[in-house]
Amino acid sequence: MKSEVSGAQMEALVWLGPSQMALRHEPIPTLGDNEVLIHVGAVGICGSELSGYLGHNSLRFPPLVMGHEAAGTIVAGTGQLADGSDVHVGQRVTFNPLITCGTCDRCQAGLINLCRNRKLLSAHRAGAFAQYVSVPADLCWHLPANISFVAGSLSEPLACAVHAVGLTDIDNNSSVLILGAGPIGLCCIAAAKARGVKTILISDISDQRLSIAREWGATHTINAKQQDTVATTLAAVPTGVSVVVDAVGTSHVRNQAIKAVVPGGTVVLMGLHEDETTIPTNYIIRQEITLVGSFCYSREDFSTAVDMISRGLVVPSHDWLIERPLSQGQASFEELIAGKSEYTKIVLIP
Ligand SMILES: [Zn+2]
Ligand SMILES: [Zn+2]
Repeated sequence: MKSEVSGAQMEALVWLGPSQMALRHEPIPTLGDNEVLIHVGAVGICGSELSGYLGHNSLRFPPLVMGHEAAGTIVAGTGQLADGSDVHVGQRVTFNPLITCGTCDRCQAGLINLCRNRKLLSAHRAGAFAQYVSVPADLCWHLPANISFVAGSLSEPLACAVHAVGLTDIDNNSSVLILGAGPIGLCCIAAAKARGVKTILISDISDQRLSIAREWGATHTINAKQQDTVATTLAAVPTGVSVVVDAVGTSHVRNQAIKAVVPGGTVVLMGLHEDETTIPTNYIIRQEITLVGSFCYSREDFSTAVDMISRGLVVPSHDWLIERPLSQGQASFEELIAGKSEYTKIVLIP
């Protein structure tokens, strides 16, 4: 956290080392050029931060304020928002937490998510588990007055899903299987629906999560504890699904993804659970299966996600999301890591 200066303090949830977090008084962040100070209205806990909390993530070093799925109100700063409009104090915004350089070859090629100098707000600099966060103005997207900060905080995971689905040639004749009904899996349902996909299968080991997935628009659900995911998929779509999205990332699930997709189909890998996996390479060759990794999002993906939220295509519901004060942050991390939470998403309100 680089926040020297200037008298005024805020409450922040500070990660202090493996499994240690504390609510502390920290200086309010100072602003660089073309940055804004956002009073945080809502900030979600992301699965990627659970490994960070445990100390398993090579990007995150204590002491650190995490939190990159957020929305709030601009209280200071200058510059232009992502849409090119001028910053005004009082604007309600959500923000893209991926800071990219704009000058490297990957940025120049339009692949900003692969920027060679990319920095994630909440890992390389302080994030939003705090009353205030500073953000480059041009990463902020305007939120309509009728959209809650909690809904706005879902823009980031939804943008990940929009990107993943966008890496395929999915359309209204496609069928898709999503492996994992956590927040990203649910967002993939919304992203697939937005592309016109009518047959959406999803697997998980929790019946509760699967029933929520049906509310989001999944047409078929598979309990992977009780059913064979590949056989059940082939029974529902005998020709095989055209696209599989793996939102888990274990060896077992990665292999299921490869076996469930139609010959010539595409498997999108998003889940980061295991670093290395043995996969049936000869089968992939003979079936001409495309494997594609999906990481973060482009500006367009983020814009699409904010637009979908603004149009009410993803609406927070207390069936799967709970809001809690920042003071319950550490307990919420512990609950999610233990797999004991009855909520798919926990959003903290500073
Ligand atoms: Zn996230
Ligand atoms: Zn770059």
